[in-house]
Amino acid sequence: MATTLSVLQEELSSVDSELQAVEIQVQELLERQQDLLQKKSVLTKKIKQFSDTESGSSKDTESAAEDWNKEDFPWSKKVREVLRNSFKLPKFRPLQLETINVTMAGRDVFLVMPTGGGKSLCYQLPAVCSDGFTLVICPLVSLMEDQLMVLEQLKVSATLLNASSSKEHVKWVYTEMLSSSSQLKLIYVTPEKIAKSKMFVSKLEKAYQAGRLTHIAVDEVHCCSQWGHDFRPDYKLLGILKRQFPNASLIGLTATATSHVLHDAQKILCIQKCITFTASFNRPNLYYEVRQKSPVAQNFIEDIVKLINRRYKGLSGIIYCFSQKDAEQVTMSLQQLGIKAGTYHANMEPKDKSRVHKRWSANEIQIVVATVAFGMGIDKPDVRFVIHHSMSKSMENYYQESGRAGRDDQKADCILYYGFGDIFRISTMVVMENVGQQKLYDMVSYCHNLNR
Ligand code: ADP
Ligand code: MG
Repeated sequence: MATTLSVLQEELSSVDSELQAVEIQVQELLERQQDLLQKKSVLTKKIKQFSDTESGSSKDTESAAEDWNKEDFPWSKKVREVLRNSFKLPKFRPLQLETINVTMAGRDVFLVMPTGGGKSLCYQLPAVCSDGFTLVICPLVSLMEDQLMVLEQLKVSATLLNASSSKEHVKWVYTEMLSSSSQLKLIYVTPEKIAKSKMFVSKLEKAYQAGRLTHIAVDEVHCCSQWGHDFRPDYKLLGILKRQFPNASLIGLTATATSHVLHDAQKILCIQKCITFTASFNRPNLYYEVRQKSPVAQNFIEDIVKLINRRYKGLSGIIYCFSQKDAEQVTMSLQQLGIKAGTYHANMEPKDKSRVHKRWSANEIQIVVATVAFGMGIDKPDVRFVIHHSMSKSMENYYQESGRAGRDDQKADCILYYGFGDIFRISTMVVMENVGQQKLYDMVSYCHNLNR
C-alpha cells in the first residue's frame, strides 16, 4: 500500500513539474504571439501604405477621377469631335472621359468596369486622336474580330495579326507600322504574338523608335494574374512591353475588381505608377436567388423546366453547368420537352460552338446550356435569366457568369442551385489553384446565407 502511495506521489510530482514546464512554454508562446502580432500590424500598415502609393488609395483615386474629368486639355476638342463624328456617340459613360484623358496625357491607367460598360472606347478613341498607332493585346481572336467589325463600320482603320495571318497581310502591317503617312490606328494581337514572335517585337521596336507606337492597351488584364479566374500563361510575359516601350502609355482593362489581382497584374506588366479607376458594379436590375437543389435528378430538372415554361416563357437565357456531361444531359432533357436549347463547351468543334452562339444571339434557340467555356465575348443584351445548375468555383466567377444577364438594364434573374455534392466536385477541381479552396468556401457561405 505504502509503495503504491509513494509511486502515485512520485507520478503526481512529475506531472506537476511537467505542467510547470508547459506553463512556461505557454508563457513563452504567448509572448512570442504578442511579438508576432505587433510585427504583423506594423507590416500590414507598411504594405497598405506601399500599395496606396502604388495604385493611389481609394481617396486619391476619387480625387484623381475629379482631376481628370475635365474638358480643357489641349486634346479635349478633338476628343469630343471624334466621339461624335467617328464613334457616333452623343456622350461618355461614367469614367470613359477620365480614362481617355489619362491615356492622352501619356500616363498609365487601369480601368475596372463591368462587362458591357464600354471599356473598348477608352483605347479606341485615344488611338484615333493620336499620331501613330495603338497596340491592343486581346486574349481571343473572336473578341478582336467582333471589335474589328464595329470599327470597320465606323471607318476606323484597324487590323489584327495572328498565327493564321497571310504573309502578304503581315508584310503590309509591318510596312504600315513604320510609315508616317499610314492611317492604321489599331493593331490587335494575341499575347502569344508578343511572347513568341521575335520578328514582331523587333518591328515594334523600330516603330517605337520612330515615335509611331503611341499607346498600348492590354484588354482583359486580369489574365496576367494566377489569382484571377482566367489566367493565361502568355500574359505573364507582357512585362516586356513597358520595359521596351516605357514612353508608350499603357491602359489595362478588366471587369475583375479584386485588388489582389490588380496589384499582381501591375507588377507583371512592370508598371511603376498607375492611376486606377473603378466603375460601379452595382446592377440594380439583377435579382439574385439561391435555391436548394432537389437530390432527385428528375425533380431538379422539372424545377428548371417549370421556370423556363412559366416565368421565362419565350425569354432568352443561359444555364451554366459544372461539366460537359451535365451540359449535354440538361440540353437533352430540355429538348425532349420541346424547349429550344443548345450545348456549348470547350470540347466542341469551333464551328459548332459558333453556330450555337449565333443561333442563340439571333433568338433561334432560347437557351444555351454551357460550361464556363461560354464566357468572354458574350454581349447579348436581352438575357433574362442565368441559371446555375451548380455553384461556381468562386464568387468572382459567379459574378462574371451571372452578370451576363440583363445587359440592357432591364430586369433579369440570376438563380443558383445549391447542392451539397457540388462542393466536393468543385473542391477536387480547384485543389491545385492558389487559394482555390478558400474561394470555394466563400462561394459556399454565400449559398448558405441566402438559403432561407
Ligand atoms: P466592355 O469591353 O466594357 O465589356 P464594350 O467596350 O464592348 O464593353 O462596350 C459595350 C457596348 O457599349 C458596345 O456596344 C459599345 O458600343 C457601347 N458603348 C460604349 N461606350 C458607349 C457610350 N459612351 N454611349 C453609348 N454606348 C456605348
Ligand atoms: Mg471588352
